[in-house]
Amino acid sequence: MLDVCIVGGGVIGTAISRELSRYQLKVRVVERNEDVATETTKANSGIVHGGYDAAHGKLKGFFSAKGNAMYPQLEEELHFGFRQTGSFVVAFNEGQEPELDRLLENGIKNGARGLEIISGDRAREMEPHLSKSVTKALYCSTAGVTSPYELSVALAENAAKNGVEYSFYTEVNGIEKVEDHFILHTSKGPVEAKVVINAAGLYADRISAMIGEDDFTINPRQGQYVLLDKDQAFMTDTVIFQAPENGSKGVLVTPTVHHNILVGPNSDYIDEKNDVATTSDVIAKILKAGSKSIDAINTRKVIRSFSGNRASSDRGDFIIGETKVKGFVNVAGIESPGLTSAPAIAIHVADILKEMGLELTADPNFDPTRKPYKRIADMEAEELNNLIAEEPAYGRVICRCESISEGEIVDAIHRGLPITSVDAIKKRTRAGMGRCQGGFCAPRVMEIISRETGLSMEEITKQGEGSYLLTKRSKDALEKGGQDA
Ligand SMILES: Cc1cc2nc3c(=O)[nH]c(=O)nc-3n(C[C@H](O)[C@H](O)[C@H](O)COP(=O)(O)OP(=O)(O)OC[C@H]3O[C@@H](n4cnc5c(N)ncnc54)[C@H](O)[C@@H]3O)c2cc1C
Repeated sequence: MLDVCIVGGGVIGTAISRELSRYQLKVRVVERNEDVATETTKANSGIVHGGYDAAHGKLKGFFSAKGNAMYPQLEEELHFGFRQTGSFVVAFNEGQEPELDRLLENGIKNGARGLEIISGDRAREMEPHLSKSVTKALYCSTAGVTSPYELSVALAENAAKNGVEYSFYTEVNGIEKVEDHFILHTSKGPVEAKVVINAAGLYADRISAMIGEDDFTINPRQGQYVLLDKDQAFMTDTVIFQAPENGSKGVLVTPTVHHNILVGPNSDYIDEKNDVATTSDVIAKILKAGSKSIDAINTRKVIRSFSGNRASSDRGDFIIGETKVKGFVNVAGIESPGLTSAPAIAIHVADILKEMGLELTADPNFDPTRKPYKRIADMEAEELNNLIAEEPAYGRVICRCESISEGEIVDAIHRGLPITSVDAIKKRTRAGMGRCQGGFCAPRVMEIISRETGLSMEEITKQGEGSYLLTKRSKDALEKGGQDA
């Protein structure tokens, strides 16, 4: 029997799993998709917020300020990609300026650090492409950007190295409380655990309802984005928010951790939790709103649009705690700033388990570190030549747009989590993230996954079930008479 079963392998489930891997516990994460970070965690702004925005007195305010402070050490230990770029909240007129004072005060109460109100001119000295209409800005030096999926992968790999089991393609369909433990009925059979942690994102209300705790609902709130090519990185290296209107953070223009530019999101409630379609009218609105902050947005430089759904609860705050059903813990309604808050939430959840009576004995073998990738794109010629001499696979470039070598892909496959999709490699190495979006490298990536894992080419998917890239070999079809070729 497991001590703890975590439902959901987003940033919340993976952060909790890594935190619990410090202790002598038997922990498993069950995730219905093919990898970690496949839903909300894969499509968001990637901002490590300063902690001034979420209201003081709410869990969001408390955990975002605490989470923000944990990122530098986490990056040192796990090497997932975090840059402390700083952020601006900009006002365009005197009417908006009091919002900056309100955020500053709120941030101080939350314990946020590095806050200062500066003039529009000073902000433009720091970011010359900032609109001339900006009159004042709230600057936060501790805000930054990260790669949400690389963080989740890093947390999960480190947890796996420290003994946590990851079970993909494992959907929880029902949960039974039996005396002092739970039986989770999953698509891969029953799983028994003393404690269940519900970190199921948009579906956390359904998981909670499985044990009769149905006193909240999760409503999907969509955010669409456009991603601009790296040659637009000159636009800004600071995260730029606009002064909030009607409680919304509005459209931001931000660098990504890998030096693309991201513009978005909108904020609209939708009916379907898993509807991640983008629409041309919303994209047009986002680009127009973004152009208010930076007037250099070149729409010809858009390389991708995407969308993610916030798990907004009807309680208006994070829902974290043991339920009336002893042993069942909800970590639900984790909308923004959930990514920022994840490491702090994870520590809080471990404290909750302790208070519930679960014995948390430190594991003397716990290793908090994860080895960094050898990224050939970042290497000087001499370093690269030495590496290729030792490991020739680093000399074979597979993704030309992002300069990703075979060595990096092979490394990604052997880091402790099962790899069955092209997107799993994309998340770990960036192969397929560039201008051609995988058009050239996907078949090579599939060949490497097949060779290294023993999966057949037909078993490898783009992004999990139903997204097969090859259905059958054309030669087989030809032999049958050519109808399907
Ligand atoms: C548009 C947008 C912008 C955002 N921007 C930011 C930002 O800049 N900074 C910030 O701090 N936060 C931001 N957030 C919030 C942040 O992305 C989320 O708080 C965070 O990703 C939530 O992670 P999660 O693990 O709770 O959910 P998810 O990533 O959705 O993970 C839940 C997992 O549970 C699995 N699951 C569901 N049901 C089952 C089942 N029955 N059986 C097994 N598995 C199941 C799912 O497959 C999924 O992988 C943003 C969110 C959005 C949508």
